[in-house]
Amino acid sequence: MAKLGFLGLGIMGAPMARNLLTAGHSLHVWNRTADRSAPLAAAGAAVCGGPGEVCAAADITFVMLSDPVAVRAVHLGPGGACSGLGGGKGLVDMSTIDPATSREMAAAVRATGARYLEAPVSGSKKPAEDGTLVILAAGDRDLYDEAGAYLDLMGKLRVFLGEVGQGARMKLVVNMVMGGMMTAFGEGLALADRSGLDPSVLLDVLAAGALANPMFAGKGPAICADRFAPAFPLKHMQKDLRLALVLGDELGLGLPTAAAANAAFIRARDAGLADLDFSAVCRILRGERPGGNDPGGKGPAGN
Ligand code: NAP
Repeated sequence: MAKLGFLGLGIMGAPMARNLLTAGHSLHVWNRTADRSAPLAAAGAAVCGGPGEVCAAADITFVMLSDPVAVRAVHLGPGGACSGLGGGKGLVDMSTIDPATSREMAAAVRATGARYLEAPVSGSKKPAEDGTLVILAAGDRDLYDEAGAYLDLMGKLRVFLGEVGQGARMKLVVNMVMGGMMTAFGEGLALADRSGLDPSVLLDVLAAGALANPMFAGKGPAICADRFAPAFPLKHMQKDLRLALVLGDELGLGLPTAAAANAAFIRARDAGLADLDFSAVCRILRGERPGGNDPGGKGPAGN
């Protein structure tokens, strides 16, 4: 069995790592907040004192961190991932980050003699648990082929998109569409409610027509019940919209719908909803003014 590593055991990383462990692979793990490693340690993972220790112990290390700041700190900081990499090893970064940061990380990893793959994912907490993510990979093709069997334990579909940066771009496109869809959905629910219509009937009407989709069907009942426990934290959706807008600007596209969605997510983040599910943007769209100490949310929002 392969010697694998995993850095970042948050909402997504913990179940993804568990799927590698359950398949019988030896797994070294690290998370900034040490408590979060305990459930995996109990299941047989070896807990390391830093990212470099994980990479030194593993042939291939997978990474699932929040954003470009976290990725830079974990890969390049003292005792960081790069300090434990070297010839023959591989680093597969599955975090959602921008193409420029990914290219910078690829250069740092390759400078150690190791290979680099970016592999951000589409899908949320439940697909991470079920091993049914969609994996958007780009970078060193031989690492993609070598890591394929492990990626298949985490995902139901994987695509190889070429040069480093193309996986990151694909991921930002997908999440830009998702952020715009959620704000349009939230505005529809708010307008229906103000109009004296039952929002749950709107869900039935949408589900029966050409606008039916798993996101509306999955999130709609929880939004109507005011439940926003995080599957995909709102702060990460806002980060993805911000990164998509920067990419659009670099490529000469204004992306006005994404810009409007981003403004709504910023208002929600600044109103204290950052750590709730991204569907909590609907609270802002229906005219609520939640305070910093009033995060709302009564239970699981589903996926
Ligand atoms: P999360 O629960 O917030 O976990 C974030 C992870 O990053 C934690 O392990 C956290 O460590 C670590 N981290 C943050 N800042 C750090 C720093 N400065 N140094 C070291 N570690 C740091 O987020 P998540 O939902 O798992 O998402 C992870 C990534 O997947 C994000 O890029 C997100 O956009 C993407 N994604 C998420 C979903 C989803 O539905 N949740 C779906 C697709 C893609 P601590 O435990 O110490 O805070």
